[in-house]
Amino acid sequence: MKVMVIGLDAPIAPRLYRYAREGHLPAIARLIENGVYAEHCLVPFPTITPPNWTTIVTGASLGTHGITCFNVHNPGDPLDLTHQGFDTTDCRAEYIWQAAERAGRRSIILNYPSTWPPTIREGVQIGGAGLSINEWRYREPSPFRCTLAAEQLFATDEYPLATTIEFRSAQGWRNMPPCRRALESELSLMYRMARYEVEPRTWHLLALDEGDGFGRVLLCEGRDAGKAFARLGPGEWTPNIVQVFETSEGRKEAVFRCKLLELSPDGSSLRLYVSPLCALDGWSYPEEVAGEIRSEGGLPMPHGGFQALNLEWVDAGTFLEIVDLAHVWLADAAVYLLGHKDWDLFFMHAHCPDHAYHAFATKMDPLTAGSEEEARFYQEVELGFYRSLDRMIGRILEAGGEDVLVILVSDHGAKATTYTFRVADVLEAAGLLAYREAEDGERVVDWSRTKAVQQRSCYIYVNLKGRDPQGIVEPEEYEEVREAVIKALYDYTDTETGKKPIALALKREDARIIGLYGDRVGDVVYAITSDFGGQHGPHLPAARFGLGDLRGLFVMAGPGVKKGVVLERTVRLEDIVPTICYLAELPVPRDAEGGVLYQALEDPDVKLKELQRLRRNYRRLQGAFEKERALGHTYNE
Ligand SMILES: [Zn+2]
Ligand SMILES: [Zn+2]
Repeated sequence: MKVMVIGLDAPIAPRLYRYAREGHLPAIARLIENGVYAEHCLVPFPTITPPNWTTIVTGASLGTHGITCFNVHNPGDPLDLTHQGFDTTDCRAEYIWQAAERAGRRSIILNYPSTWPPTIREGVQIGGAGLSINEWRYREPSPFRCTLAAEQLFATDEYPLATTIEFRSAQGWRNMPPCRRALESELSLMYRMARYEVEPRTWHLLALDEGDGFGRVLLCEGRDAGKAFARLGPGEWTPNIVQVFETSEGRKEAVFRCKLLELSPDGSSLRLYVSPLCALDGWSYPEEVAGEIRSEGGLPMPHGGFQALNLEWVDAGTFLEIVDLAHVWLADAAVYLLGHKDWDLFFMHAHCPDHAYHAFATKMDPLTAGSEEEARFYQEVELGFYRSLDRMIGRILEAGGEDVLVILVSDHGAKATTYTFRVADVLEAAGLLAYREAEDGERVVDWSRTKAVQQRSCYIYVNLKGRDPQGIVEPEEYEEVREAVIKALYDYTDTETGKKPIALALKREDARIIGLYGDRVGDVVYAITSDFGGQHGPHLPAARFGLGDLRGLFVMAGPGVKKGVVLERTVRLEDIVPTICYLAELPVPRDAEGGVLYQALEDPDVKLKELQRLRRNYRRLQGAFEKERALGHTYNE
């Protein structure tokens, strides 16, 4: 049996379920109708990306696989030193595709976070070093680097992080088309977030008034209108354009698109969006597979659209067009790989809901939105990106074929931003954390007076002598400091709301009850309630607020799975690997800890019955063989 695991990052599961049942998401609705949907899918704590995607494909808890938050801290490193959890060498658990390879089964892994460098030998992997193709978080400074560059905006008005341009009369152009007036501007490409150096490049923009005011622009590499690489009217996109760039890593081909967002007829204002410049290689295993993937309608895009929306470069409609480019590319890549490569297992992830909710979950929720109108507007945008994902999923499922075990899953949910809670303030007020002024005037931790410090989304570390490079707490004071931390956390009441932000504060060894243990978790683990904080991370896996919900998405359909059933039992992400292994008869990965989701199966005892039948048949054969041999002996003697 083949298996497909399709991941969405941070969807709000009950909302997606409702949209599907209402008929907005036909591919997901079909999957739900033909399978099971879990109402209570609990993801690991902290409710965050790299650890939870790692749990989905190892079956292991965070303490076991060692990716204990978005970032990883190695014991003995300074307490303020962490790195992003995208490096497979940090993972201490075996991946399901490694176990499958032991049985000769092959995997396709597409844009699955925290899987770089690749750990498969056979099979194909695309991306995995970041949250999208051409986004690099593996061994890169936070937040990420792009190959070749992030999205950019050229505008006559000022926009944050955009390039402001000026128009002047066009001069010295060859092959100037007939027109009443022509304006020109130089567009110096920006290589924001670039992973390597890229040669400076200037495009020449020619705006034409062909009789009724300015209504067209040409984009050219030199002042030759006959060699324009793009012609655009207001509101139009270019098709995919490929250009070659010299970089510090050699010549790189990159694909991109441009949209003319605005061109006023009098030529006074213009806004041109340039998508990320997306490298066409460097992100696949084996290396040459990248070159086999063709996409006319999509882009292998790092993080496109979200910043453009946040910075008000683009409207919501354009935002949805941009995210769709990424989904079309993922579908094109999946359809090609599923059709042309040997495979037994397919794993993928699409990041869109997470970025989108970080951008507008607060504006979408009536409890936190500026107005009802704003909430309604962003709910429409939300439905728009789910529709785009549903089209992607529909194409991928079709390419996967019949009789495949399909699991649609998420790493966590999301909610609006609620009240601010700063755990550092609590530690400081309790005299556990101290600051000093650095030479540049910045407030930095004074390690010589700090007994405890927060780290990552849910940990507090005792600044312990002998373990931590700047440790001041004697080992015999360790317990006392931990108890002071826990007391300070529980005692704290938010003055603005009168509410208590701390949902949970546990000593490291007690945190094993939520799967956190070992040398990569803090001395104290804490969680906050949904009345505080951002979209996800320090919130418990069943937290809810307004429209928001932190619970995971889990839909499973295929041979042996119940149809049209809503599972009431708790489903944990740790259970996915054992369930796949049970149904698809794969070796269980070395560190898997979850259990088979028996209540999702038409006959939970199907394997037992099969084994009993085989044993019965074997005994019958053996009995017959013994009798035959006895007869043979008689004849021979
Ligand atoms: Zn996530
Ligand atoms: Zn997120």
